[in-house]
Amino acid sequence: MTTKRRFHPYLLAWIPVAALVLFGATSNGGIAMDILVSIMSVIGAVAGGEVLPLEPDWWGMAARVVALAIAVFASVLLIRHGRASAGLCPRCGRGDHPRRPLVTLGADRLHRLARFVAIGTMLPAGGYAALKLHWAFGGHVGLDDPTVFADVEPWSPGFADTAILAAIGVCLAVVMAWGRPRLPRWLLLAPALIGCAMLVPVSIMGTILNITTLWTDAPFSGLSWWIGWFVYSCFLLWAVGLTFVLVEYHYRTRPSCRACGRSGYVRITA
Ligand SMILES: [Zn+2]
Repeated sequence: MTTKRRFHPYLLAWIPVAALVLFGATSNGGIAMDILVSIMSVIGAVAGGEVLPLEPDWWGMAARVVALAIAVFASVLLIRHGRASAGLCPRCGRGDHPRRPLVTLGADRLHRLARFVAIGTMLPAGGYAALKLHWAFGGHVGLDDPTVFADVEPWSPGFADTAILAAIGVCLAVVMAWGRPRLPRWLLLAPALIGCAMLVPVSIMGTILNITTLWTDAPFSGLSWWIGWFVYSCFLLWAVGLTFVLVEYHYRTRPSCRACGRSGYVRITA
């Protein structure tokens, strides 16, 4: 049985939520840059020395974190309200009469697809990491000006460290899709969420930059025109893959609900 969809005024409340997300994800490099700067600050504090290529925007970072926290909190309230008004459990979204599913593949097929996608993230993540390592060790592929990275060492910020982050990201996706969930769920969910929070906005902003600079000068001086397309296409594919693996893992490994007691795979509905 499916219930008919109607427009509810509370849906308008998503507009300010979307504005907060847009601010948090894009202003002054967005939350992705904040996370990268935070990771580098920790590395700098542990290893000593200057690893930050730029002055961190601490106040902006605080504003973005607050904006995104409010957006997450408001989203939870709105989703729960929507579920309750559709007769579903507000906490977990499970129900006796689920709405038309967004995804019509069965749970087994989704899991098989997630395994395939998790392995597939090796391709974009590996391609990006390979390019960064190639430059870090003095390679010239994709450089119009061969001296642009002349001062770069493998441990310079944004080179070997991003390749290590890429490797961690791929391992996470593979463990979520293939590993036995003996680890606490949050131990995989939290870093995968951070990965998505970095990849999704950067890949979208980068792709928009690529398209808007198609007929003008290349946006990155010293680099060949195709570098922007290569890097942000890798990010985009990787972002889609990691998000899919994360969502599938979340639904597959959810414990039974503390509010309604229902268990099992919920059909993904909207
Ligand atoms: Zn429930």
